[in-house]
Amino acid sequence: MKELICIVCPKGCRLQVDDENGHTVTGQGCPRGEAYARAELTHPTRVLTTTVRIEGALHRRCPVRTNGPIPREEIAGLMRRLDSVVLQAPVSAGQTVLRQVCGTNCDVVTTRDMEEEG
Ligand code: SF4
Repeated sequence: MKELICIVCPKGCRLQVDDENGHTVTGQGCPRGEAYARAELTHPTRVLTTTVRIEGALHRRCPVRTNGPIPREEIAGLMRRLDSVVLQAPVSAGQTVLRQVCGTNCDVVTTRDMEEEG
């Protein structure tokens, strides 16, 4: 039996997955919990949120995220790629930083406006 916390919504249901019984899922408050548990056991994914360097702005780091889930095993490699990214102010929220990362259709996008340093 494996236990997982569903992260699909803020309710955070505690899921039990019986791996000896065809991955029977219990404890979910809605059907999305079962889908989450099955995906987590077979192909775990995450939305990555982090920051990248920015020049010409008041702050030195700009928050970014993937605009969808990417395979969890790809996250370390994507972080290394993002280490070499340097944005130039101004940027606006939702601006694409990297396109179609990790073999997915997800982009890395900025999550806030950052003006030029006055
Ligand atoms: S199982 Fe449904 S209700 Fe429970 S945390 Fe997941 S999405 Fe929310």
